[in-house]
Amino acid sequence: MEIIHVSAECYPVAKAGGLGDVVGALPKYQTELGHIAKVVMPMYRTKFLYNNQWETVHKGYTHLGNWWYHYTVIKEKTNKLGFDLYLVDINGLLDREKIYGYGDDTERFTAFQVAVVDWLSAWKHHPDIVHVHDHHTALIPFMLQHCYAYQHLAGIRTVLTIHNAQYQGWMGWDKSHYIPAWDSWKAGLLEWNKAINPLASGIKCAWKVTTVSPTYLAEMRQSAAGLEALLEYEKGKCSGILNGIDTTVWDPSTDIYFEHHYTPDTVEEGKQRNKELLCERFGLDPKKPLITFIGRLVGEKGADLLPQAIEDSFYYIGRKMNFLILGSGFPAIESRLLTMKGLSRGDYNVYIGYDEGLSHLIYAGADFIMMPSRVEPCGLNQLYALRYGTIPVVRNTGGLHDTVIDYGDKNGYGIRFNNATVGDMTHGIWRAVELYQQSEKRKDIRRRILQLDFSWEASVRSYLELYAS
Ligand code: ADP
Repeated sequence: MEIIHVSAECYPVAKAGGLGDVVGALPKYQTELGHIAKVVMPMYRTKFLYNNQWETVHKGYTHLGNWWYHYTVIKEKTNKLGFDLYLVDINGLLDREKIYGYGDDTERFTAFQVAVVDWLSAWKHHPDIVHVHDHHTALIPFMLQHCYAYQHLAGIRTVLTIHNAQYQGWMGWDKSHYIPAWDSWKAGLLEWNKAINPLASGIKCAWKVTTVSPTYLAEMRQSAAGLEALLEYEKGKCSGILNGIDTTVWDPSTDIYFEHHYTPDTVEEGKQRNKELLCERFGLDPKKPLITFIGRLVGEKGADLLPQAIEDSFYYIGRKMNFLILGSGFPAIESRLLTMKGLSRGDYNVYIGYDEGLSHLIYAGADFIMMPSRVEPCGLNQLYALRYGTIPVVRNTGGLHDTVIDYGDKNGYGIRFNNATVGDMTHGIWRAVELYQQSEKRKDIRRRILQLDFSWEASVRSYLELYAS
């Protein structure tokens, strides 16, 4: 099969979160199984762009409403990522340093989608599947079927994967002319709650819809930022396929981001050395358990609970543990976490920002990782943590429910709590400290989690079966 993934992110080209990891890995494994998987994404000004060689494969001219623009499609020359990578350059619109966060993101991603469809329409053959990811690319199924200029593409099968339903890409009807002339009888396929909702449109128009874990799919029918009724209605074409992890990028025995590598046989010494390095850098105590949080500092991830849960832990459990936080996001959470540095007695620190290398070192050196998420479509942090022998302390929701079993249960290996509250989280931290003190039990759990397999193999097969259907 020939599969075209269209996405706003793809690791290592540009990544803001789990979407980038998935789109950087899934096509690679599909290619390994003998399929042709390609990724098309916007050309941002990233290091990857400047450090690699490119050839121009297409130049086109199209329009976003009344604004006509040239676009260029370039292809990475050496197949460095294990699949064909194409970048779409739209001068002045996409070629910026950040992926998101500009006032004209609606225009940027709509123009990107129009360019992708326009490019596909110039192909001499049709791909078997166009697989779009999240709202930034979710108007493509509609465009392929209902734009007059692209009628010849209407038969192409499309799949939408929802990595996060909280972000839907709403735009007003005043922007409906951004979509190339379309059959106005089909307005209902763009609309949700009186506006154009790209994610809802993707759910309505894609041939199949997937989410990144079975539990998240079930939860979305109850709560999906306004889309629950639509997901209930369309449930016949929806399925939940758990993400895998790229076990070549995420491997403690070869990781390019730190020196002290380890295998299951050397996990205790290996983790201790990485922990000492971290503790030295961040002024922490390597004799105490190191508990971390890595991720976006937003309510969805339960990051607002962190400051109080850490303070309560110090107060009620005692200063028996270290905390190290890596993340960025909501300014009020960032500033409270920074202020708390003043209260540290060599047992708390925070790094505000995005740092891929540091995240790898923390997965390697930490004893526990906290994920008090309110919503967690799949969650990759707990999977990376498990791969690095770090025990996850998670809220029982979405993909965390599907991947972490409490160590108190049969075959369990993590710590799970039910509510996104300071009390539940502090209790989870208390259990982590207790577990740390029982060193034989902790070592046994570490040995077992290193045997778990969350690689892509099973998930890739599920995607291929879905395409075939
Ligand atoms: P999200 O909802 O943010 O996509 P996921 O758990 O699916 O959450 O993926 C998060 C990914 O982003 C992981 O690879 C994690 O290590 C990475 N990440 C998040 N925040 C940071 C940060 N501040 N620095 C480095 N990596 C980060």
